[in-house]
Amino acid sequence: MAEELNPFKIAQAQLDEAARVMGLDEQAHQILREPMRTLEFNIPVRMRDGKTRLFRAFRVQHNDARGPTKGGIRFHPKETLDTVRALASWMTWKVALADLPYGGAKGGIICDTKRMNDYELEGLSRGYIRALWRFIGPSIDIPAPDVYTTPQIMAWMMDEYSKMAGHNEFGVITGKPLEVWGSQGRNDSTAMGAMYVLREAAKYRRLNLKRATVAIQGFGNAGNFAFSLSRKLFGSKVVAISDSNGAIYDNGGLDYDRVLEAKEKYGRVQAYRGAERLTNEQLLELNVDVLIPAAIEDQITGKNADNIRAKILLELANGPVTNDADKILSGKKVFDLPDFLVNSGGVIGSYFEWLQNNSGYYWKADEVYRRLDEIITKSFRDVIAAQEAYAKSGKRVSTRTAAYTIAVDRVAKAMKARGWY
Ligand code: NAD
Repeated sequence: MAEELNPFKIAQAQLDEAARVMGLDEQAHQILREPMRTLEFNIPVRMRDGKTRLFRAFRVQHNDARGPTKGGIRFHPKETLDTVRALASWMTWKVALADLPYGGAKGGIICDTKRMNDYELEGLSRGYIRALWRFIGPSIDIPAPDVYTTPQIMAWMMDEYSKMAGHNEFGVITGKPLEVWGSQGRNDSTAMGAMYVLREAAKYRRLNLKRATVAIQGFGNAGNFAFSLSRKLFGSKVVAISDSNGAIYDNGGLDYDRVLEAKEKYGRVQAYRGAERLTNEQLLELNVDVLIPAAIEDQITGKNADNIRAKILLELANGPVTNDADKILSGKKVFDLPDFLVNSGGVIGSYFEWLQNNSGYYWKADEVYRRLDEIITKSFRDVIAAQEAYAKSGKRVSTRTAAYTIAVDRVAKAMKARGWY
C-alpha cells in the first residue's frame, strides 16, 4: 500500500496513536481530530503589470480551549488546505507542550514569492488581512511568520489590521521588525530553542557536541541560525547544508560566512566553492552525529528512514518525518526529537513578543533567551519523564507519542473544565 503523505492524515494518525496509548476519552478525541474553524478565501491583487490576479488563501483555527489561537502564515506555491490543517493541529500540540496560554492555528496562501516583487507581496499581505481581520486579534488568533514570510510581511499585516481596527494593534501579529515592536531574540528563537533541546538530548545520550558533526537540510531562517548557533554554542562542525536547489558537503566542515555569501550573492548554497555537491536525499543519509531537517514536511519517509545514520534527529522543520518513517526509526538507535518540541522556540519567542506588546514593556535579549531556555528545557524533561513512565508500565512509546500525550492531556483537561464534553 502506498505510504500516506497527506500531512493532515499524518497528524490525525499521530493523535490517534497518542489517544490509544493514554486512553483518551472518545468525545475529546473526536473534537481534537478536526479543526474548530476553517476559512478559505480568494484575494484579488493588482500586479505590477496593472492586471489583477486572484490568490487562494487559508486560515485554520484548530482549537482554542486553552487560549487564543496562534500560528504562522506560509506563502508557498504548493500550499494545500490539508497542509494548513495539519500545521494548525501541530500548533495546538506545540503550544500545549510548552504550556503557553494559546491554542493552535495556521495560515497559508498559494503563491510563488520568488516570482513576485515587493509591491505585489505587500498587496497580497494586506489583502490577506482585509479578508481575515474580523477573525483574528490579540485575544482571538495571532498570526506569525513561517516559510517564505518575513518580518516585513508581518509589519504590513499589522499595519493593515491597525487601519481596519482604527487603532494601533501591535499584539495582533508576532515576528515583526524591532522598529514596530518585535521582540529581541525573536528572529533566532526557533533555532535557539532547538539548540537548548540539542544540548539536553546530548547530555541524555552522552554525546560530546564539541566533537559532533552536523548536517542541516534547509538554509532559511531556521536552518541558517541552526548552522551559526551549533558552531557558536557548542563548537560542533557543520559538514553539510542544503537549500531547495541541492546540498553541499565537506567532511572538514563548511565555513558559515562563505555559505551565507553563496546564498546571498548567487541565491543557492551550491555556489559555495570547494565542497562536494549532493542531492537533498543524499544529505539526509549522511553518517553524521546530528541531522537537522529544517526545510519542509515529508522528507524522511518509509523509503529512506532505514538509511538514516545520524545519532540524533533534531526535527527543526514541521512534519519532516512521516508515520511510516517513525515506525522504522523507533526500531533503530536514532534519538528522534519531535518537531513540536524542537521548533517550539519560535512560538515561545512569539509569546514573549505578544506579552511585551500587550504590556508595553520591552525586555533585553538575555531575558528572552533565559526564559526560552527555562520553558523548552522543561518541555524536553517532561517528554523524557513521560516516555520513561510509559516504559516502566511496560509501554514502549516514541518521544513523539510521549510528547503528544502531555499536550493532548492538557487540552482535553481544559475542554473538560469548560464543559465541552
Ligand atoms: P524559510 O522560508 O526561511 O526557509 C526554508 C528553507 O528550506 C529555504 O532555504 C529553502 O530553500 C529550503 N527548502 C525548501 N524546499 C526544500 C527542499 N525540498 N529540500 C531542501 N531544502 C528546501 O523557512 P523557515 O522559517 O526556515 O522554516 C523552515 C521549517 O521550519 C518549516 O517547516 C517551518 O514550518 C519550520 N518552523 C519555522 C519557524 C520559524 O520561526 N522560522 C518556527 C517553527 C517552525
